[in-house]
Amino acid sequence: MSNDRLIIIGSGLAGYNLAKELRRLQSKRPIDIFTLDDGSFYSKPMLSNALAKQKTPGDLPMQTAAQFALQFNVTIHPHTPIKHIDTTQKTAYTQKHAFEYQDLVFAVGAKARSLDQVCSEVKAPTFTVNCLSDYVLFRQHLDKLQAQKAVKVLLVGGGLIGCEFANDLAQAGAKVSVVDIQNRCMANQLPPVLSHTLQQALESLGVEFHWSTALHQVIEQHKAEQTYITATTKTGHTLGPVDLVLCAIGLEPHITLAKECGLVVTRGIKVDQTLQGSQDHIYALGDCACVNGLMYQFVLPLMACVRALAKTLNGSTTPVSYPPMPIVVKTPICPLVITPPAPNVNGGHWEYEKPKQEDQSIDQKALFKDASGTLQGFALMGRYTIEKNQLIKQLPPLL
Ligand SMILES: Cc1cc2nc3c(=O)[nH]c(=O)nc-3n(C[C@H](O)[C@H](O)[C@H](O)COP(=O)(O)OP(=O)(O)OC[C@H]3O[C@@H](n4cnc5c(N)ncnc54)[C@H](O)[C@@H]3O)c2cc1C
Repeated sequence: MSNDRLIIIGSGLAGYNLAKELRRLQSKRPIDIFTLDDGSFYSKPMLSNALAKQKTPGDLPMQTAAQFALQFNVTIHPHTPIKHIDTTQKTAYTQKHAFEYQDLVFAVGAKARSLDQVCSEVKAPTFTVNCLSDYVLFRQHLDKLQAQKAVKVLLVGGGLIGCEFANDLAQAGAKVSVVDIQNRCMANQLPPVLSHTLQQALESLGVEFHWSTALHQVIEQHKAEQTYITATTKTGHTLGPVDLVLCAIGLEPHITLAKECGLVVTRGIKVDQTLQGSQDHIYALGDCACVNGLMYQFVLPLMACVRALAKTLNGSTTPVSYPPMPIVVKTPICPLVITPPAPNVNGGHWEYEKPKQEDQSIDQKALFKDASGTLQGFALMGRYTIEKNQLIKQLPPLL
């Protein structure tokens, strides 16, 4: 058995891009990739604008596991969870087999929080979308309903992903009601004025919002051969009836396996700037990793980690650095790009640029300045999104 095997747990953007990057640097080292799903290579961000792009779930994979394995000379183990890792013996175990490794990388991602974590009684089918197989199920249900009628969707969560789905579903003809415990769109990333502008833009597509609203009960009912779902809020109001419920209330990193094998975990798997965990030869990146105390769950930080870790695994220890990283929010009704301030920025405030006379209502610009007046983040809407590249240059690195 080869003793320089690299095991990557996870075939998402983190795991697969790491394998690709490593193959750019060297061709021979055995790489085994384990995954819970079928190992299709796809771009997860496409899940929240597939309707607008007129894509079916079947259009989304760019490569099958077999094609990826052949192109990059790796061994992929689809539908094969790693159950246990003995870090002393450097062996990973599936249900049936043991695999020795030289290095092991956790690229296990995160799981979507489900409605029953925030709602006392859920007696209805509800959906979350955090991987292609989730999306297949969601679209099967949606497409079936849409073939019969105009579909009413209750979308739980008005954050970034919730707003993207609200835009995508509403533009595809669904009647969307968003419910959120917070009091405005993307409350964790946007200043209030821009939240309000985004809300108005989504309302122009027919989206309704129920803010500061916690759900108590979600129940499926049957009447005259019709099935529908109603929700009751903690203050006793009834929402609905709707045809389906989509929940976008955040992610929880997969940390159980890492914890069980003795790694230090915080909110995610704790790694240093070289992506090394609390034990030698174990690394983590992507949605599951807490890098030097920073938890970023989007593509640009993950790709920065991929490039650094590939070099490290190729023999040249390389710490990751995070430049300022903008997020392009996929709400085409209201083009939006944000670079929130780093979590360690204490204090500060948003400054709004007064819209010019010729501006449309969605043309908005807000700059986040710290206590000393230094630019630490921004949010740009409408035609101001073109200022992204120029503003990025003025921001300090995140790591
Ligand atoms: C709808 C949606 C839209 C998004 N849009 C954007 C966007 O526009 N821009 C952006 O930057 N980011 C976006 N993101 C975030 C971005 O897609 C994620 O940060 C990124 O895809 C995470 O990749 P990952 O490889 O870390 O995790 P995942 O894609 O979750 O992959 C985890 C992998 O680990 C495997 N796994 C887990 N446990 C085990 C085990 N025990 N054994 C074997 N395998 C295991 C799983 O099968 C899976 O293959 C979006 C996310 C969502 C959900």
